[in-house]
Amino acid sequence: MPLYPLFADLRDRHVLVVGGGDVAVRKTAMLLKAGARVTVCVAVLVPELREWLQLERITWRAGTYQPEWLDDAWLVIAATRSRPLNARIAADAHARQRFVNVVDDASLSSFQIPAVIDRSPLLVAISSSGAAPMLARRLRERIESLLDPALGSLLQLAQRYRARIRTRYGDLAARRRFYDWLHDGPVHASLRSAHPMQAEQQLADALAYRKEAQSPGSVVLVGAGPGDPGLLTLRALRALNEADVILHDALISEPILDLARRDAERIAVGKRGGALHTPQATIHALLLEHAHAGKRVVRLKGGDPFVFGRGGEELAFLREHGIAYEVVPGITAALACAAYSGVPLTHRDHAQSVRLVTAHCQQSFNTLDWSDLARERQTLAIYMGVSELDELTLQLLAHGRDADTPFALIENGSLPQQRTLTGTLRALPTLAARHAISAPALLILGEVAGQADAAHWYGELLGNEPSRVAVPRVLADAA
Ligand code: SAH
Repeated sequence: MPLYPLFADLRDRHVLVVGGGDVAVRKTAMLLKAGARVTVCVAVLVPELREWLQLERITWRAGTYQPEWLDDAWLVIAATRSRPLNARIAADAHARQRFVNVVDDASLSSFQIPAVIDRSPLLVAISSSGAAPMLARRLRERIESLLDPALGSLLQLAQRYRARIRTRYGDLAARRRFYDWLHDGPVHASLRSAHPMQAEQQLADALAYRKEAQSPGSVVLVGAGPGDPGLLTLRALRALNEADVILHDALISEPILDLARRDAERIAVGKRGGALHTPQATIHALLLEHAHAGKRVVRLKGGDPFVFGRGGEELAFLREHGIAYEVVPGITAALACAAYSGVPLTHRDHAQSVRLVTAHCQQSFNTLDWSDLARERQTLAIYMGVSELDELTLQLLAHGRDADTPFALIENGSLPQQRTLTGTLRALPTLAARHAISAPALLILGEVAGQADAAHWYGELLGNEPSRVAVPRVLADAA
């Protein structure tokens, strides 16, 4: 039989916790949060409990367990290490009609403590009716990631305005529409952007003028990271879940798009290897069109939207047209490729700075300060450079970079087909051509790149020069 879900008001009500281990401490913490008066029964107090005792947040009973202790308790938690004792406490509680939870023993318990997602005053509680608490916990993690932290503030605001909303919208259907607007519209967006005063103003205005009728659209510029869906931020995931329309770069991987709301409209824009090209003006027009239609638009970009992503231009355009926006950063290719090839971008002994550089055409080449880039003790992370490796190498050598400077060239970083090519600057164009490295690939050049051979851990390593092939540890030790 399923359990009856219940949210208990424990403020100033007495709860008895028998036992003083980790679990008892956790349960006590939750009870204190709910305002309960907790008595802990255990011979010796662990430091946390002792601190609560000193702060007079709990009371303590050190003697051996007595059934009479249950008499003035509303709830009982049996968390001792002894199963027979737990069973006795449970039996005593049943006899006195006290609800009892026996830790990790559903059969002895008359109430269960659910897994909780806390966005106070919003609480989401999950129970498997004692069948599989572990699975309930897994689910809790999933749901936790879907509910943004601003939700708590939204509910607090709604709580304060509840009476006024009810008066203003006597009709149930209208009230429901208003709450939809509250959740989906600008008030929640303002809270997410850390503008609580503005949020309250918007709510007050809506109540005064019924302004919510025209629900304005908004755009979230989201960085999708380098390809591995595990590298999305929780915030990016939530934006994908709430989107009506997703304008995504062609490079965004399928597994990432699969995480988006099923019925969101998806529009591929941008280019892949120059084949399919959407002019920036068209992207702007699409953003405008869908935002004006009141949609929640996600503009999904590879890596980070503000690193060689034209995110700044799109923001300026939205600002010009008075469209509200948020920006969610993503893991940029340089950080991901470095991590996935085991190359630290900075190093106390080898590199005090790292530079993100783009080298996609002759024009961008001419504007670069090569003697500056050729300096030692810095790491270059070069984007969009695969087609220009000859010129790049030539320039760096001509401006004095050591021909023996190590590089790591990472193709499809963080994706299962990742390949990492290592070598030294003098051989870069030859090696890249031999292995037909193609876009998307990121070049890390500098002393730190030499670590890839040993520290590399993901995907395939293309080792080339015999002298650089790692010597098996056994042999090295013998030598
Ligand atoms: N905004 C993106 C960069 C866009 S420019 C970011 O922050 O990462 C596109 C270039 O990024 C590619 O030419 C390549 O150099 C690099 N890049 C993007 N994804 C990559 C990946 N998975 N592996 C290697 N390089 C990648």
